Amino acid sequence: MSIVVENVTKKYGEQKALSQVSFTAKPGEIVGFLGPNGAGKSTMMKIITGFIPANEGSVSVCGLDVSSNQIKIKKKIGYLAEQNPLYYDMFVREYLTFIAGIFKISNSKERINEIIKLVGLSLEQNKKIGALSKGYKQRVGLAHALLHDPEVLILDEPTTGLDPNQLEEIRNLIKKIGAQKTVMLSTHIMQEVEAICDRVIIINKGEIVANDSTKNLSNLFNPNSVIVVEFEKAISIQKINQIVGITKVEELNSKTFKVHHKPKTEVKNDLFNLAIAENNSVESLQRETKNLEGIFKELTTKN
Ligand code: ADP
Ligand code: MG
Repeated sequence: MSIVVENVTKKYGEQKALSQVSFTAKPGEIVGFLGPNGAGKSTMMKIITGFIPANEGSVSVCGLDVSSNQIKIKKKIGYLAEQNPLYYDMFVREYLTFIAGIFKISNSKERINEIIKLVGLSLEQNKKIGALSKGYKQRVGLAHALLHDPEVLILDEPTTGLDPNQLEEIRNLIKKIGAQKTVMLSTHIMQEVEAICDRVIIINKGEIVANDSTKNLSNLFNPNSVIVVEFEKAISIQKINQIVGITKVEELNSKTFKVHHKPKTEVKNDLFNLAIAENNSVESLQRETKNLEGIFKELTTKN
């Protein structure tokens, strides 16, 4: 496992920001850390990267306990903080050379060239950071996080404040990087998770409320499978009801039906076959699902 978080609790004074949080992330995985503002995402990420300590629990990264391996851990992790802290008066290449010095990167010139190309900063490499657009500043932050070739990448809201084109570019970049590393990225946007993450961990008020693949999460919240089917011509509801696995049929009009069926039972082909047998045809067939946006709202707005 690349990241193992066990029963982490964090308090700021009297306020509990994290309560008994546990999860893991494995190599090659892009994990979305999703939650509304104030849920505890940044706090968790600061603990994983060793910037602040937890009050209780433990965190290990690449098999090393974070609290007792501060220096070693920094070499294993690339971190893009929420307020991407850049030196605006420095030039892009100058800044990356400075960071390479901190990490004591050997043949740093080559490595910087490689990273500049990877994150798409070739045209901006000789510009002042302060003169760059928000999207390009994020790329500099990503370049910083990637320079020492860490195994684990922690990205705190990497796409916040980007316009739709920049968003797309940074998402593609993260996907590309994620193929070889363990990536954990926080966001308060569900679509972001759907677009790039293999798995989602939903946090609300300092507690984990879901941890699953995006697909499983959807199945979990849609236990009863529902299909809306429209036939070309009217058809009797009894005929549909006879299909094995169908638990309930609602007639929306003489041609359109809402079909409930047992989970993991495929009834689509039977509906098509029924249409053929009845000299009818299927005009449209659509699965009704609660989308992930709805699931997120349901999980994060109660109490
Ligand atoms: P998120 O990143 O999900 O928006 P944070 O981890 O930043 O959430 O914050 C979680 C909670 O902890 C919030 O209620 C926030 O106000 C509080 N908090 C965060 N940092 C501090 C701090 N340094 N001192 C006091 N409270 C803090
Ligand atoms: Mg935050």
